[in-house]
Amino acid sequence: MITTADEALLRRAVALAARAVELGDAPYGSLLAGPDGAVIAEAHNTVRRDNDISAHPELKLARWAARELDPDAAARTTMYTSCQPCGMCAGGLARSGLGRVVYALSTEQLIELNPESGAWPVPEQDGPALFDEARAPIADYYRR
Ligand SMILES: [Zn+2]
Repeated sequence: MITTADEALLRRAVALAARAVELGDAPYGSLLAGPDGAVIAEAHNTVRRDNDISAHPELKLARWAARELDPDAAARTTMYTSCQPCGMCAGGLARSGLGRVVYALSTEQLIELNPESGAWPVPEQDGPALFDEARAPIADYYRR
């Protein structure tokens, strides 16, 4: 359930999205808040400025949280973000230990506003192959 306190933090994430546009980047912003609602980190999209396809605010903050917060603190932290995290960011969030994500626009709403947002081509993948060779470093590593 999204509360009025959540909505206030979502408005800050939307303001960060507007700031990204002012700086020449795509309109996405996110922040992390502790259990008391205090903002502990903010980010906006810098894909163009950094020439980095991974410079989405959600992924930047997920990486920051995994690096800077202990697991208990991460689990008590909520991400507020102007749009629902994309697949790349969702993968990072799954590994970050963050406890909750609250978003404003859903992916479906974003695609209605910009159909190209849902048109990323998925590269062809071939595999599996070379099982005996490929399993050796994996098996050795996880046997430790
Ligand atoms: Zn993303």
